[in-house]
Amino acid sequence: MKMRPEPLLLLTVLLCAAGKPQSKARNKLLLISFDGFRWDYDQDVDTPNLDLLLKYGVKAKYITPPMLTMTSPSHFTTITGRWVEDHEVVHNMMFDAKTNLKIPHKTTLRRSEWWDNGVKPLWITAQNQGLKTASFHFPGGGANYSGQAVHRSVLEGSDHPDDNETEWRQNIDTVLSWLSKEDFNLVTLYYGEPDNVGHAKGPDHPDRKKIVQQIDRTIGYLKDAVARHHLTDSLNVIITSDHGMTTVKKRPQVDELILNKYLNLLEAASFEILDYGGFGILTPRPGREQEVFDALSKAPNLTVYKKNEIPESFHLAKSERLPPIVIVADLGFNLNSVSRSTLHLTFVSHQRFIVYVNKGDHGYHNGEMDMKTIFWAYGPDFKKNFLSDPFDSIHIYPLMCELLQIEPAPHNGSLTATENLLLSRGEDQSRKSKASAESAFRSDTSAANHSAAADHLSENQPNKPEEAVSRSGGRYLLPVSESPCFTLKR
Ligand SMILES: [Zn+2]
Repeated sequence: MKMRPEPLLLLTVLLCAAGKPQSKARNKLLLISFDGFRWDYDQDVDTPNLDLLLKYGVKAKYITPPMLTMTSPSHFTTITGRWVEDHEVVHNMMFDAKTNLKIPHKTTLRRSEWWDNGVKPLWITAQNQGLKTASFHFPGGGANYSGQAVHRSVLEGSDHPDDNETEWRQNIDTVLSWLSKEDFNLVTLYYGEPDNVGHAKGPDHPDRKKIVQQIDRTIGYLKDAVARHHLTDSLNVIITSDHGMTTVKKRPQVDELILNKYLNLLEAASFEILDYGGFGILTPRPGREQEVFDALSKAPNLTVYKKNEIPESFHLAKSERLPPIVIVADLGFNLNSVSRSTLHLTFVSHQRFIVYVNKGDHGYHNGEMDMKTIFWAYGPDFKKNFLSDPFDSIHIYPLMCELLQIEPAPHNGSLTATENLLLSRGEDQSRKSKASAESAFRSDTSAANHSAAADHLSENQPNKPEEAVSRSGGRYLLPVSESPCFTLKR
């Protein structure tokens, strides 16, 4: 893996930080991610609390995630400000193409060797400049970086339910007490919805609207809790996500993509992850790269790339981990290998066997509007009632460094793209005079919460353990334990 000259870099960073003028008090930062929240999910459902975020903060029309539009790659770009080819978290699954190792997403959260490739995430950079940081379920927050751990990290268990509204509120109380009582400067908080519902039922299903309303109530709860913890004047909050979601096209409308029709994958490839939505990777056996490329190029509704010919705009080609062949399906098409672990089942059943049965998916080109996602922010350093033009999620990193008043590690973002969200220094100094607006915000929030059916909480009991598989599922026809390809989390 690529390693960077960290000692010299650290020295430079510390010198720069020491020399940086501290013209105002340093506020704290809470970064919240709701996985798979498509940019327009708030537009066909009543979301009074999210609407208030714009009134008393900033919103981007949408933001563009990096290629790959997947949970781990995209979250790690947000928290490092690096393209995927640089941070090398190139899939939700940890894999080794040489040994055929494949490890499901939630297990990777504890595997530092998947995350630590020489790029320092924000937690570590902030800690090295004297700040106190924590991660609650956030991808990458449970790894060690050159032996250095995030000060406090809560990891998701493999059977953790994603949609328990009571627990969502408890998690908010937990992280706010870290910020208010234990003086943490930066906390990142992750929620697995609306991604799960989007996969299981599709982005147009009424249950997706229900979960967005649950998120909306949670935002209302958050805003009240921030006031209760006396953090209104000292905490900035960023609410974002990793990618959007699109409806998977199925028969009879379209023929699914079955790659084994074009190539005997078992014979031609030594490694592949293909049954994983719209993005596939494959290592041809020695001497067969051109044959694999030519054969798969004949398949409709997908684009095959040799790694060294991947467009520069994808920011993927320089990755050492990515196998030599990368496949990106057209929007809404899933790649089905019908090979290897599924092959024997195909023979047994003597019929076509689609192993991947999501109704919604992501992993498609980040230029597709369905892959775009959300950005809201509010707090003492942000403008009010400011609707921003779209920007790339990679620019969130320098914004967070600016908010925390730390010197960024080397990154691919630009503060120029996001600094217009911030109050200017002059505006900042006069922010105390906005106290009346802030208290009005809290009253609005309470009213919105009340009208948005707070009673829902009592209906939302924690999921029983046995529901974990069926809920994520319906998606997979095999028990998770039977194949490392099948993960509960995308
Ligand atoms: Zn997903």
